[in-house]
Amino acid sequence: MAKQDVKDLDWSNLGFTYRDLPYSYNEEFKDGKWQNGGLTTKSTLTFSEAAEELHYGQEVFEGMKAYRRKDGGINLFRPDMNAKRLNNSAERLVMQTYPEDKFVEAVKAVVKANQEFVPPYGSGGSLYIRPFMVGTEPVVGVTASSTYTFHIYATPVGAYIKGLKPMPYVVSEYDRAAHAGTGQAKTAGNYAASLLAGKKAHDAGYAGELYLDPREHKYIDEFSGANFFGIGKDGKFYTPKSESILPSITKKSMLTIAKDLGLDPTETHIDINDLDQFTEAGAMGTAAVVSPVGSLTYKGNKHVFFSETKPGPVTQKLYDTLFGIQEGDVEDKYGWVVPVEL
Ligand SMILES: *Cc1c(COP(=O)(O)O)cnc(C)c1O
Repeated sequence: MAKQDVKDLDWSNLGFTYRDLPYSYNEEFKDGKWQNGGLTTKSTLTFSEAAEELHYGQEVFEGMKAYRRKDGGINLFRPDMNAKRLNNSAERLVMQTYPEDKFVEAVKAVVKANQEFVPPYGSGGSLYIRPFMVGTEPVVGVTASSTYTFHIYATPVGAYIKGLKPMPYVVSEYDRAAHAGTGQAKTAGNYAASLLAGKKAHDAGYAGELYLDPREHKYIDEFSGANFFGIGKDGKFYTPKSESILPSITKKSMLTIAKDLGLDPTETHIDINDLDQFTEAGAMGTAAVVSPVGSLTYKGNKHVFFSETKPGPVTQKLYDTLFGIQEGDVEDKYGWVVPVEL
């Protein structure tokens, strides 16, 4: 596959697809230690046919973005949290951890090396960054690998869902993660488990699927790649508390933002039969940013939130605040934004 030429990019129509950029980052773990990685122009990886990750799924990943500021600079958003979460995920899958400060430096190096691919301010696009780690040892029996590859690629993306357009979602009959399973780890297997549910949802005309808690199928868990929030009739911000959801950095940030906006945020069990308690609902995550949920269909009954055509005022405000902080237009009171030195 040829490297992407920056001149061939249409910044206003990037979509959410992979493009092969000039630089990636790669580092190997072997003989009990990380082997001094660095930037590489190689965007393919080579493994044994018996590599652990190919058969037993030892893989963890992160999803981050670099945002172009109005002054031409580039921001990362809370990259230290991604570094921590990668290691939490790795521990759940009995993998090596990667030093957190090195992780942040590696991400910065990839962004700097590919800086011309960070979409312009105001285009709605950003540079999506995908750090990941895989177990590479050839194994037949099920054991944790003793060798790993840590790798980062980046690719320019447009808004995951263009504009703040409300989308229809459906409550899935499937689970993406078990109650005491790997739901809190950002790992490939959870996504493999969600593909059929996602295909059925898309085939039926929905933008995506919402999962319920795997134990009782009674409380809202999350979407396949984003956490859920609802704005109650009481004006408060609600988001599910669950052991099988991914601890979203966007969600964590939104709890703080919602508090500052006077929305008295609460993490609690949200009964799927209580949807009429909410005036607005949305999905939140790095890819989704804040996306309004127009409707949710559960057991054949479609529940419409604020509107199927326009975002609710609170959802809009949450989006404007979060994206404003990320792009550097809204004051960063908590030191979340990390500029990349170019
Ligand atoms: C990555 C992810 C999210 C969003 O997490 P952020 O840190 O906000 O990007 C939510 N749910 C799942 C299942 C995820 O994999």
